[in-house]
Amino acid sequence: MGRQIAIDGPAGAGKSTIARSLAKKLGYIYVDTGAMYRAMALYLLRKGIAADETEKIEAACGDADVSIVFADGEQQVLLNGENVNGLIRTEEVGNMASASSVNPKVREKMTELQRKLGEESDVVMDGRDIGTFVLPKADVKIYLTASVAERARRRALEYEQKGMTVDVAKIAADIEERDYRDMHREHAPLRQAEDAVLVDSSDMTIEQVEARLMELCAAKKDDGKSFFA
Ligand code: C5P
Repeated sequence: MGRQIAIDGPAGAGKSTIARSLAKKLGYIYVDTGAMYRAMALYLLRKGIAADETEKIEAACGDADVSIVFADGEQQVLLNGENVNGLIRTEEVGNMASASSVNPKVREKMTELQRKLGEESDVVMDGRDIGTFVLPKADVKIYLTASVAERARRRALEYEQKGMTVDVAKIAADIEERDYRDMHREHAPLRQAEDAVLVDSSDMTIEQVEARLMELCAAKKDDGKSFFA
């Protein structure tokens, strides 16, 4: 069993930025579970399958092979062997991922892959249900959140930097819709695990959040388990 750091929280809270840098500092593997749901969503979009076509989605779980490889420490998501990393960071794919991830078959498939990664390596894993469901025995659990306005602002900036046109109000509305769906679904909904530490990054810089998380890992070290190689 590897050492496990679980970071959960709503869309745009800064999970991936923080998880990536924490993993680098600790020499762990960064596992982005949202990217796996996004790869599955891309498959469904390409096949023209709608989010409410449950039977087709469940059949697609058998046809879509989602796997992970690491190149230069960066996770690459393969969809039936094709590297789709550059195709999954769009609002369309994100919204489809949110809608299709309510399906228990989709969740089962992704959870299996994620648990395997958590057993094989030391990981920083981010998502919605990592501390509560995927890695319930994780050594450190963080629930990272921020206000809707701040999260929408950050997402808009991210898209602008990629040269995409943005509508902040639309992004905020999408974020609220996704939060609601992620928090109210039947299987493994988004919520703070009882033993997770809440970090609200609304008024924090990336450096401050990083420092806080390193502090939490160091506190664990005092429990007798070292997090630093
Ligand atoms: O984090 P990201 O925005 O890439 O995730 C896309 C969608 O995938 C989320 O809105 C959520 O519905 C779903 N997801 C999930 N469980 C995870 C990670 C992501 O349901 N562990």
